[in-house]
Amino acid sequence: MHNNLTWHDGYVTREEREELHGHKGAVIWFTGLSASGKSTIARHLEKMLYEAGCSTYVFDGDNVRHGLCGDLGFSAEDRTENIRRIGEMVKLFVDAGIIAMTAFISPYRKDRERIRDLIGRDHFFEIYVNCPVDLCAERDQKGIYAKAKAGTIKNFTGISAPYEPPEEPSLVIQSDQVDATQAAQQVLDILKNAKIVT
Ligand code: ADP
Repeated sequence: MHNNLTWHDGYVTREEREELHGHKGAVIWFTGLSASGKSTIARHLEKMLYEAGCSTYVFDGDNVRHGLCGDLGFSAEDRTENIRRIGEMVKLFVDAGIIAMTAFISPYRKDRERIRDLIGRDHFFEIYVNCPVDLCAERDQKGIYAKAKAGTIKNFTGISAPYEPPEEPSLVIQSDQVDATQAAQQVLDILKNAKIVT
């Protein structure tokens, strides 16, 4: 379909950009139920990385669904397309040498694995934020679990739509057992071990 398009490499390589930043580009892909703690942990992690001088950005539902994916809903098809677009976008951030964190439910295993293959295992870290659904419902400040249980919101992950946990995540965070800063520290340790940051 796009046979006449060519990828243009610039005069600066990804490795050179990474050298300038003082760290590698990577995607930290948080997945888990709504209100499990993905955004909160991602924000703590971003603060820690920022304070260490890293170039970072956090993507979550609100800053993506308004614009880039504003035309998409929550059907299985739209969820897959939502995650596909985000995957392509974060791939460019990795190429830019940035540490991108994403906080999307991303319920389908196949969709996440496609992004891991797109980005490559060395730069993709899948973090499963695991929390019992009843506790997620208690933490939920927007009242969406109540609406989902009442049937006002359809296709709600964990209530009326499936969630497929990762089979080989880089890390499982039990967010009912560790607090958000401890969780962020666990992720930071993984990034240090993988030499994304020093
Ligand atoms: P998600 O991004 O997964 O939808 P959020 O981070 O927006 O979830 O919301 C999780 C809520 O749970 C926040 O209000 C947060 O303060 C609270 N919370 C309580 N304990 C934790 C924890 N251990 N880790 C993360 N969030 C927690």
